[in-house]
Amino acid sequence: MHSFRYRGGKLYCEDVDLARVAEKFGTPLYVYSAGTILDHYRRLDAALAPLQHLICYAAKANSNRAILKLLADAGAGFDIVSAGELFRVLAAGGDPAKCTFAGVGKSGEEIEYALDQRVYSFNVESEAELEYIDKIAGAKNLRAPVALRANPDIDPHTHEYISTGSRENKFGIALGQLPAVYERAAKMRNIDIVGVQMHIGSQITEAAPFADAVTKVAPIVRDLKTKYGIKFFSIGGGLGIVYESSFESGVKEWWSVGRDRRARRGTMPLSIQQYVDAILSALGGLHNLKLRILLEPGRLLVGNAGVLLTRVRYIKHTGEKKFAIVDAGMNDLIRPALYHSYHEIVPAQEPICRASAAADPKPLEKIDIVGPVCESGDFFALDREMPEICEGDLLAIMSAGAYGFVMASNYNSRPLPAEALVSGDKFALIRERQAWEDLIRGEIDLQF
Ligand SMILES: *Cc1c(COP(=O)(O)O)cnc(C)c1O
Repeated sequence: MHSFRYRGGKLYCEDVDLARVAEKFGTPLYVYSAGTILDHYRRLDAALAPLQHLICYAAKANSNRAILKLLADAGAGFDIVSAGELFRVLAAGGDPAKCTFAGVGKSGEEIEYALDQRVYSFNVESEAELEYIDKIAGAKNLRAPVALRANPDIDPHTHEYISTGSRENKFGIALGQLPAVYERAAKMRNIDIVGVQMHIGSQITEAAPFADAVTKVAPIVRDLKTKYGIKFFSIGGGLGIVYESSFESGVKEWWSVGRDRRARRGTMPLSIQQYVDAILSALGGLHNLKLRILLEPGRLLVGNAGVLLTRVRYIKHTGEKKFAIVDAGMNDLIRPALYHSYHEIVPAQEPICRASAAADPKPLEKIDIVGPVCESGDFFALDREMPEICEGDLLAIMSAGAYGFVMASNYNSRPLPAEALVSGDKFALIRERQAWEDLIRGEIDLQF
């Protein structure tokens, strides 16, 4: 699942002691495991071997160029949601012919750029967008390759902010309207119908919603193949990852106490194989019709491959409560504040090793782990059972590789954190920490 483990009481990423990385580059610091990302990609690719397929990594989950390059070199395509992401992908050596351009609000400038770069497909979400793309392609004397995004009206049982495939969402075109919109598209002079796409949501931990959605859309796909000779069916991304008790082994007693408790609360992971099996059977032979199956995983590839390292600045007691105030804030990792999402938090130094003289580790205690930002929503964990935490301790906020850095902001005028990549026993900075100067770059003195 990931390459973070304790060795001799120290938390390692692959063969690198994370405390060393934190000392070299400072905190807060995102650290990613190249091995984990590639392992996830290759395992998904292998499971999809029975299908003619293309994995289009959803770049929005983590768009650092070094990460994009890893995946481009491994053969991945990309699902992009803006021209900026296409620009990044190209800068990382990605192949535009393997890029799908998603999103409900593409601008004229973005459409022009993607046309010029010859992306594989525009995944279109409305008739208005379709008309606009037709017009822009016409002006360029080009034909735009297009897939319509189907909204299968499936409840993926995930957080409402990341559910995208039900009737009430802004995403996609209802199945009932889809054939008519394809008919309109077929009459447009500068549109090539190349596929059909859907994406029902994110952090989905059951196979059933995926299978139900594929089953619902499959007959339409079959018709579209017959009528327009479409080339691909993209079933989107959304496969969830394990946020609770993600360590497989190598953790000591203090950990397993908490782990058992968490395991009872947490959901069991949906394995890549279970997910692919469910899709395969729901496709019901559709893929034998010379149809390429596209997947757009984001979180699955990078989520468990990253941690946010943060140092404890102060311990504060208020009445009943104990707080650890750390140097990372909600501006660095907003998921807990935004979705109330759970992140496992572990010390970089295994606590049992700290007091080498003491035979027994101290009992777990409840603590809030919070950031320095001036918002009560600025927390990473509330009432979390942890081994004793002290000032100066280095903590790892686990599973922060997806929707972590990419959602970071300068709120409270905090410079963006640095990012580092580990591969085997090597590690390197892949994005420098912002300096104070960066905070005012681009601001203009008023000159009326
Ligand atoms: C965000 C997104 C994805 C990736 O979602 P994950 O949950 O990270 O796998 C895939 N496709 C589209 C269209 C998206 O918007």
